[in-house]
Amino acid sequence: MSINSTISKRLNKLENIFIIGNGGRENSLAWAIQKNELVRRIYVVPGNAGSERIDKCERIKIDINNKNKLLEKLNFLKIDLIVIGPEIPLANGLADFLRKEDFKVFGPGKDGAKLEYSKSWAKEFMQDANIPTADFWKANSLEEAKKIIHSKSIPLVVKADGLASGKGVFIPETKDECFRAAESIFNGRFGNAGNVVILEEKIEGPEVSIFALCDGKKYILLPSAQDHKRIYEKDKGPNTGGMGAYSPAPLLTEDYLDKVIREIIEPTINELNKKNIDYKGVIYFGLMITNSGPKVIEYNCRFGDPECQTIMPLLDHNFVSLLEKCSMGNLTGNEIIDTSNKVSGCVIATSEGYPSEYKTGYPIKIGKIDSNDCQIFDSGTALSNNGELLTDGGRVLSIVCQDKDFDIVFEKAYKNLKNITFEGMYFRKDIGHQVREKFSKEN
Ligand code: AMP
Repeated sequence: MSINSTISKRLNKLENIFIIGNGGRENSLAWAIQKNELVRRIYVVPGNAGSERIDKCERIKIDINNKNKLLEKLNFLKIDLIVIGPEIPLANGLADFLRKEDFKVFGPGKDGAKLEYSKSWAKEFMQDANIPTADFWKANSLEEAKKIIHSKSIPLVVKADGLASGKGVFIPETKDECFRAAESIFNGRFGNAGNVVILEEKIEGPEVSIFALCDGKKYILLPSAQDHKRIYEKDKGPNTGGMGAYSPAPLLTEDYLDKVIREIIEPTINELNKKNIDYKGVIYFGLMITNSGPKVIEYNCRFGDPECQTIMPLLDHNFVSLLEKCSMGNLTGNEIIDTSNKVSGCVIATSEGYPSEYKTGYPIKIGKIDSNDCQIFDSGTALSNNGELLTDGGRVLSIVCQDKDFDIVFEKAYKNLKNITFEGMYFRKDIGHQVREKFSKEN
């Protein structure tokens, strides 16, 4: 078959979808994608034990770094659209490779993924485009870092430049802690990701997450979200991959969102174009709402977890078409996301000890869960040889519910969580406290 006929075969077809990744994010993407009646089969690679509980879904075990095997599989399965979930394959250029092979891919190339895999590059990008962000200094050695830290009157935020699984950011209280954080990064705590250190002015304010689906030129925004990163209630304790989230974020009024679009989102898309980066994927904007306006804390080149798990159930069957349009550079700019005025909340259940050391392999019992607007998305689960569901990670699973207000949403989520048990199960009881009127009155 000629290349041209292969392409025309794949255009406008959405029968077979291939999702790369193994977390709750990928399961929630699969769940949102299966809603479309054009979709027949979704292959989650490698997925986890929860993937096959989702309609139309099948797990595939294949090494995505073995390019020949991967291509063979994609062709054999007649894949119409590939969605790359995690940052590492994106940073390694997997999307570029697959596009060259004429696949439709949702996920930026290596050049676009640099927004996430090099914090210094992202900061310079923002500087070039006049996008508001915290002031920063780049240090190529501990000596340089020390000089910068010494020259400032207050402690700076310390970040490893590269990918550090969300653990490369330190917010020291004293200058001494700043030195020690910079020292540990230069001493190889994050391997090559720590060859460069970024020092940042510490800014303050509530944080909000925005996701833009981009087709290279145009974009469409998903409902906003706020997540809870700290392990303990009242936002105390170490950072995690996320303990829960809610969407949309009422903090972001329509007027304020317009400001964010003008000052941050459009300048980002324009700067990507200026730099000839054909970004076909999602851009995550991690924003802080400061007294002097919205500022970018970080960009990610993928969906964040658990925000993705929270937002996906608000989207209708058109979601996968949006991903396809992005992959082909075909957004019209007139697409609408209709959430039917629902709001969504997500609570993550973790293994005892997370985000430090924890044990896995405990049986998970799932009792009766509301079938009405409640989902369970597995993050770290596995099946035993006899098919029993077991814990297999720090963040084990989430319960996500939707309804007309956040009080009802979280009441539903916590009620249903009572029917899920495993040894050492931990979850925060105050997820969404900012938007739960009943919770605020009682606490
Ligand atoms: P990042 O991985 O860059 O998103 O940082 C993780 C978290 O650290 C953010 O969600 C913020 O809560 C905090 N953070 C990062 N940069 C700063 C900054 N310049 N000032 C204050 N807090 C920050």
